[in-house]
Amino acid sequence: AEGALRQSQKMEAVGQLTGGIAHDFNNMLAVVIGSLDLLRRKMAADVPERRHAESAMEAANRAAALTQRLLAFARQQPLKPQPVDVNELVAGMSDLLRRALGANVQLELLTGSRLWCTRADPNQLENAIVNLAVNARDAMPDGGRLVIETGNARLDRRYTASHPGVAEGDYVLVAVSDDGVGMPPEVVERAFDPFFSTKQAGQGTGLGLSQVYGFVKQSGGHVRIYSEPGRGTSVKIYLPRLAGQKAEPAAPGPVAASLPR
Ligand code: ADP
Repeated sequence: AEGALRQSQKMEAVGQLTGGIAHDFNNMLAVVIGSLDLLRRKMAADVPERRHAESAMEAANRAAALTQRLLAFARQQPLKPQPVDVNELVAGMSDLLRRALGANVQLELLTGSRLWCTRADPNQLENAIVNLAVNARDAMPDGGRLVIETGNARLDRRYTASHPGVAEGDYVLVAVSDDGVGMPPEVVERAFDPFFSTKQAGQGTGLGLSQVYGFVKQSGGHVRIYSEPGRGTSVKIYLPRLAGQKAEPAAPGPVAASLPR
């Protein structure tokens, strides 16, 4: 909440730093993985030490996958915005989401009617929704409900006055809500910070929400977290309505900032 400018400067600095480190790290990992592979090949299948070589290899491969993600993040691939029907996009993701969420989490899609179109990079929007869904799943270790809701929303003067940097106007809303553990205010405050994570080492990179933030900001949108410990979390993404679209009759107002029960 300390201002969009500070956040984007931080993102840029971290992007440069991360890119450099990830690149060097990747080269070193290639040596580690190559050497481990040689070592393993030289060992007979029944040598007990082989197990150690294999678990080292596994860890090195995980590290390589992580640096790939860091590189993709640092590169900040240029967005390829195009008109998007968010309802269609979300509906097309339901199989993928169900697989990512597992059997314990119920997925519910609440698609708003007469939804406006937005202009965004569809791949990055999918990516953002997957990031939010994975966070929601992690917040519901004993299962729960994940609701993805879409709707038309108008952010009026009253709203923008208390949210500097947000332009007044029409937006397409995508809200991803869970009834998981929730976050205390001091976590909400830092949740968009790159590398901020409360997850165990190796479980989280702390980049998911900063990626979401970067994507939404670059798309001219707005993102907010509503969360209550013990009750759940709702992340709302507002993407600008595509200009030039014919106005549909009586757009519903902004969806209330309610959490699923
Ligand atoms: P990561 O998931 O790798 O930790 P993120 O940037 O995606 O990184 O999230 C940062 C932190 O925000 C998480 O570690 C967690 O503490 C908190 N968080 C994010 N989403 C949720 C959620 N749906 N419920 C509870 N806490 C969350």
